[in-house]
Formats: sequence, structure tokens, C-alpha cells
Amino acid sequence: MARILIIEDEAKIARFLELELKHEGYEVLIAGDGRVGLEKALKENVDLIILDIMLPGLSGIEVCRRVRQESNVPIIMLTAKDDVTDKVAGLDMGADDYMTKPFAIEELLARIRVALNRVRNMTREVNSDILQVGDLKLNLASRSAYYKDDELVLTKKEFELLECLMKNKNIALTREQLLNKVWDYEYFGDTNVVDVYIRYLRQKIDEKYGVQLISTVRGVGYIIKDQ
Ligand code: CA
Repeated sequence: MARILIIEDEAKIARFLELELKHEGYEVLIAGDGRVGLEKALKENVDLIILDIMLPGLSGIEVCRRVRQESNVPIIMLTAKDDVTDKVAGLDMGADDYMTKPFAIEELLARIRVALNRVRNMTREVNSDILQVGDLKLNLASRSAYYKDDELVLTKKEFELLECLMKNKNIALTREQLLNKVWDYEYFGDTNVVDVYIRYLRQKIDEKYGVQLISTVRGVGYIIKDQ
């Protein structure tokens, strides 16, 4: 079930939302000021944020701006009645939606479902078809790879290794894991083949385009991440 973070300094509203959301089966985290809220938003791996605008510590607008620098998690802002400036600022900062206080809980619940479904659908598309890290894209349906608009010429194993790294984007994988996933058999001891193929990929991507997408994690293996 989805984890929802409520950033709201009015304890009564926060408590009310918590009860309603828990009743719907969501896991709920609460932060009573902007700074704590931002920290939880970035660290707690939440699926959606309900964000009040008028907050002590850090305004909701600022929290929204900083979360957006790192994450596409859906954000629904709570604004004071008729404050058009706040609504516009929130949406400009990348909020997905807003509710005006006082609001009907049913409407908020409906908007939460919509926001969560939108993310799920996006993830499904990504899973089925396109993987992307920075300007690097893999189309799994057509088995093609692109850096910006350049099509990369990759061998079958290079493609599969890259696919494995990109599916696990931002997660370090050991040579053994890569070997098992890509070469599809248990390997006894010698993982040099992984290093060799990583070198090929770096020549074709990192060195060619002057980027560092594929990194070595010392003592572990390899990771691909957005710069
Ligand atoms: Ca407030």
C-alpha cells in the first residue's frame, strides 16, 4: 500500500487526514514543519505528499521546489481559500494538484487515487518499453539504444548488460549479479568478462559523449546513474 507523507502544521488537520488515510489503508507519515517535511520527503521513500503551503520552518512552496530537484513523487498542495498566488506558485514549482481549504475529504481521496494511478501507469510504460538514464535511452521493444539522437551500435551482450544496469538504475550491482543476469549461467570465479564488457560500453557511451554514466563501485561492482 502507498506511503503518504502529510506536511501540515495544524495538528487537527494533520490528525484528521491521518485517520482518514489510514482508514483507506494507506501508510501515513506526518511532519509538522517544512524542514522536517523536506527531510522526510527526501529520505522516506514516500509515494505521495500532501503539502500545506503556510508552514513554519520552510514554506510549502520551497519544500515543493526542493523535492522536485530530486524526485517526481506526486505532490498535492493545500492552499488557503482563494489564494490564487499560492496556487500558481505551487503549480509552477511542480506540484501536481492542489486543494483549497476547507476541502471535502472524499475529493482529496479521489485526487490521491488519480495521482497514484498516474505514477503507476507511467512506471508500467517505462517497464514495458523505454529505459532512460540521463540522455541515454534503451528501447526494449525495438532493441535499440540512443544517446540523445545518436543510435548506438551495441552487440547483443552489450545491450543486455546495459539493460540490466539501467533496470537497476542507481543500484550498485556486483560482478556476480551481472554475470548471472546477463550471461545466464553460474560462473565459477572469473568475473573478468563483466569488466571487459563494461569497458566496451564505456568506450561507446561515456568516452564517446564525455559523460560518466557507468561508475565503478569499489569493492562491489558497477552502477549506472544520472549525473
Ligand atoms: Ca499551515
